Amino acid sequence: MEGISFYGTEFLKVMDSSIDNDDEYNWLRVITRDLKRTVHPVRHLLLINFLTGDIAEFFSAKVYKYNLFGKGPWPCLNKVAEHYRMGVVNNLKITDDYKTRLPVGTFSCNCGFVYSRKGPDKESSDRYRVGRIKKFGVVWENKLKVYLKENKYSLRELARLMNCDPKTILKFDFILGTNMFLNNSRYIKDKDSAAEPGKLSDYKNCILANIESNTAAARTEITKMCKKEYIFIYRKDKKWLYEKFPIKIKRINHHAFVDWNKRDNELLFIVKNKYEELMNSYEPKRITKSSIGRDVGILTLLEKNIDKLPNTEKYLKEIIETVEEFQIRRCKKIIRNKIDKSEPIRIWEIQRIAGIRSEAFEKMKLLILEYTDMETGGDYKRLFI
Ligand SMILES: [Zn+2]
Repeated sequence: MEGISFYGTEFLKVMDSSIDNDDEYNWLRVITRDLKRTVHPVRHLLLINFLTGDIAEFFSAKVYKYNLFGKGPWPCLNKVAEHYRMGVVNNLKITDDYKTRLPVGTFSCNCGFVYSRKGPDKESSDRYRVGRIKKFGVVWENKLKVYLKENKYSLRELARLMNCDPKTILKFDFILGTNMFLNNSRYIKDKDSAAEPGKLSDYKNCILANIESNTAAARTEITKMCKKEYIFIYRKDKKWLYEKFPIKIKRINHHAFVDWNKRDNELLFIVKNKYEELMNSYEPKRITKSSIGRDVGILTLLEKNIDKLPNTEKYLKEIIETVEEFQIRRCKKIIRNKIDKSEPIRIWEIQRIAGIRSEAFEKMKLLILEYTDMETGGDYKRLFI
C-alpha cells in the first residue's frame, strides 16, 4: 500500500488511522468506495494530502473552478433572439487557452448561438461580454434572412442589427442563398468570388464594404481600417486593389508633362464606379457632374479640364440626368417597391412619395402609367385608384 509507505505506519498510528489490509472495512476502503459509513475528517485530510500533495491547493482550485464565470444559467447574447440577455444558457464548457493557459468559457444556447470568452470574469458586467461568436445558429440566420429579403437595409445597418461584421453579413448572404449583395455587381467582379466564397473574396468584400461606408476616405485610411485584408489581397491580387481603391488625384503640376490619355482612362474608371455606387444606393440621388465628382474629389478636374478628357466626357453625357429623368427614375423605383410588396399603386401616392410638383408630374404621368402597366402585366388596373 502506497498510502502506508507515504506516511509510515508510525505516523498513521499516532493519527489513530492505521490501515489494516486484512480488514475489508478499513477506513481507506470505506472512504474510496463511497460506503455509507462516516470517516473521520482527519482521515479525509490524510487522503487528500496523499493524492494532491497540498491540501490548501486542493480547496482553492475547487473554489476557483466554480467561480470562473459565475453561477449558471448564463445569459444568451444573441442580439436577435427574444431571450437576449436572459439567463437561459445551461451549457458551459471550460477549457484552457493553449497560449495563455487562461480559462475559456464556451456558452451554447438552445437557439443555436454559441459564444466564448476568456475568463475568469472579474466584474459583474463580464457576464454579458462576448469574446468570440463561435456559431450564429438557426434563430439568428432566420432573422437575417428576413432582413435581407426586406431589401431596405444597408450592409452597415444589417451588421448593426445582427451584431456582427459586415463581412459576416456578406458571407451569410451567400450561404443562405438570398444573394442580396452578391447580385449587386459591385460585390462580384470576377467569377472566382461567385463560385468560391473563400478568404480572398471575403477580404475583398470587407474592403468594398469599407470603401462604401467611408466614401470620403482616402486610400491610406481604408488601408488602416482593413490592414490584414489589404496585405492578403496585395499578395494575391494586386491588380484588384489598384482597380478598386479610391485613387487620390495628385495636384496637377503645370510644369510637368501630364499624360491626359492615361488620366482620362483613370477618371473614366472612377466615374463608372461612382455611378454604379449612386445607382445602387438605397436613397436615390440625381446623377450630376457634382454628385459623381465631389465625393471622389475629381469635380474640379471634370469642370476645368473636361476638354482634355474625351472618354470621360462622353460617358458623363450618357449618364447625367436631367431633373425630369431623375424624377421618373424615382417614381419607377417607388412603383417597383410597391409591386415587390404587393401594395396597391396609387398615382397620387407615387407623386407624394417622390415629392414632385403637380405641374411637372402631369408631364410624366403617361410614361409612369405605361411603366406600371408593363411591370405588372396590366394588373395595375385592379390596384389602381
Ligand atoms: Zn439563445
